[in-house]
Amino acid sequence: MLIVPEREIADLMTREAAFDAVEKVFAAMASGDAYNFPVVREAIGHEDALYGFKGGFDRAGLTLGLKAGGYWPNNLEKRGLINHQSTVFLFDPDTGKASAMVGGNLLTALRTAAASSVSIKHLAREDAKVIGMIGAGHQAKFQLRAALEQRDFEKVIGWNLHPEMLPNLQEVADEAGVPFEVVELDGMVEADVIISITSSFDAILGADQVSPGTHIACMGTDTKGKQEVDPQLLVKADVFTDEVAQSISIGEAQHAVAQGLIVETDIAQIGAVINGTNPGRISDDQITLFDGTGVGLQDLAVAAAVVDLAVEKGIAIEVDF
Ligand code: NAD
Repeated sequence: MLIVPEREIADLMTREAAFDAVEKVFAAMASGDAYNFPVVREAIGHEDALYGFKGGFDRAGLTLGLKAGGYWPNNLEKRGLINHQSTVFLFDPDTGKASAMVGGNLLTALRTAAASSVSIKHLAREDAKVIGMIGAGHQAKFQLRAALEQRDFEKVIGWNLHPEMLPNLQEVADEAGVPFEVVELDGMVEADVIISITSSFDAILGADQVSPGTHIACMGTDTKGKQEVDPQLLVKADVFTDEVAQSISIGEAQHAVAQGLIVETDIAQIGAVINGTNPGRISDDQITLFDGTGVGLQDLAVAAAVVDLAVEKGIAIEVDF
């Protein structure tokens, strides 16, 4: 069995490798070659922790495994550790033997950013120039950094409930040499691409705050009850997702579906666009919305990629198991 510790991931994994892995696995999901197992998420009654597993099997990439982990809210204050903790375990699909254990913390951020980037590549207008960010936390930086590579963006605009976090976006925009401006939510009409990545439980972005032709990636809503946009926006938009079952239960579409505004069959898999079986964007004034709920197969795909890179560089730790 191979071990790739968390400390090695930053030097091994690239945004490009994460993008390729996620794009491939989304395609495999849409063609029926890969599927996710039901998600387990439990409040364990200890340290206020939320713990769970996300797993799946990709028959095309021969990747079988799970990500185990969750959220320990007291970690930082009590122990100086980050609150989100996860580890990916891979298994040999031919034998069931454990094949790898990989640090999952940085990989989670990279695979989540890769998902919105894949949606931008396949659904945003080619001439998109302004990217709008709603959210300015840990994930927002990864999201923006990856998204800026997908189009020739000339400006970043940002809004966040907690304005003191906005310098996070400024930092990434500066890195890329793109001007950054703080806006009110009404200012989002200027954006050609919008990413929302917050922990909100109420709609932030209104349906009238999005211009025709915009692509929106809703990335924060990954749990029942969370919400980032007005459900009417999902009526106005063509809706795509990583996995329809998650989109309607824990993703942004849960609200529009619960209110009877849209139905499950209104939502398409992004993998179908990648595979060419769904046309995706068909006009310049269409609004497209990607509901990125985060699936276990994304974690397995990036973990498998990092194991390959670690083996190539002679960094993977081999243990007899
Ligand atoms: P973070 O704590 O670093 O940042 C939280 C962000 O949400 C900040 O911008 C904060 O201002 C904003 N926020 C907090 N409460 C809010 C409220 N009530 N209304 C509006 N905004 C609010 O968190 P993070 O690590 O950046 O994660 C952001 C979100 O992304 C979380 O909800 C997390 O569960 C989700 N997430 C999704 C995926 C996925 O695959 N879809 C993966 C990882 C994380």
